[in-house]
Amino acid sequence: MSTFSFEYQRMPMAELSEPDRELCRRAAMATGGSYAPYSNYNVGAALRLADGTVMAGANQENASYPCGTCAERTALNYAQANYPQMAVEAIAVAAAHKQHRGDATSTHRPPYPCGLCRQALAETEHRQQTPIKVLLVDGDEAIVIPSASCLLPFTFE
Ligand SMILES: [Zn+2]
Repeated sequence: MSTFSFEYQRMPMAELSEPDRELCRRAAMATGGSYAPYSNYNVGAALRLADGTVMAGANQENASYPCGTCAERTALNYAQANYPQMAVEAIAVAAAHKQHRGDATSTHRPPYPCGLCRQALAETEHRQQTPIKVLLVDGDEAIVIPSASCLLPFTFE
């Protein structure tokens, strides 16, 4: 019998390091760039490169649903296209549901990345040979996962 398991933390925002807290803030801000008229699920992602550069992405939906891209891969693809030699150190993800009145409120559930994003993050880790910390914003707390590969056992390679 074999077991796959990993350890993660649920931490109050105030206890995160300043760079991680800032990354979570940037992810929450990035939800404003989301285009999600079909799901009304506005997601923002912010990632930090090894040199401290931070960039953000948001989900972009399309009437032809499979054309849409998640926030995590929007940010990740931008980083890899523009900073191909720079390792990704951490990614933060935040979500907001847009209500019919137009006000954004917190979701009930942390924005766990979808399977496609888990695969994309895991392959980036594999390429750069260093872990990508994943921070999932959940209200005043963040779920902190030490390595994206934790989220996808038996990653396709
Ligand atoms: Zn995704």
